Order: sequence, then structure tokens, then C-alpha cells
Amino acid sequence: MTQEERLFISAEDILELEFRCSNAGCGLRLTFQIDKSMPPPMGCPACNAGWFVPHKDDERKTTLYAFIDSVRKLREMKSLPFTLRLRVSSREGA
Ligand SMILES: [Zn+2]
Repeated sequence: MTQEERLFISAEDILELEFRCSNAGCGLRLTFQIDKSMPPPMGCPACNAGWFVPHKDDERKTTLYAFIDSVRKLREMKSLPFTLRLRVSSREGA
């Protein structure tokens, strides 16, 4: 018999995002609370590496902002005729 663990989360379960600087020799981990109405960090506060191009056409920044905004909106939707959960990997370190 094979047992498979399936792990689901809802938007309410997403409390923080973790940014990790990929600049060589830095690796700073920075947590961002999803329920605060603050914009995500634009760069690393430790090594000052810029994480986005400083203009609004940076698609990576636009995508990240849209993701955060969507999670915030999903958390505020209380009267949906369905529940929505995301399946995440349950493997250690994945
Ligand atoms: Zn850094």
C-alpha cells in the first residue's frame, strides 16, 4: 500500500513571503508580511543589490505586486460559493 500525503493551503494560510538575496556572499532572508499594506522590498537591505529595475515596466515587479494583491483580495473574499486551496509540495526542502 502506498500512502501519499497531500498538503493544501488557502489564501488565509499565506502569512509571509520570504525573500532571499541571491547576490553572491549575501543570502539575506527577509520576511514580508502579506497582511500589511506595504509594498514589497525593492532590493536587499544588507548588500544593496537591486531586485527590480527601478521603473514600472519591470515585469517581475509587476507580477510580484499582482500576486501579493491577489492573495490579499482572496483573503478578503468571505462569501464565495466554493473554497479555494492550493496544493503545495510536502517534501522536506522542496
Ligand atoms: Zn543581499
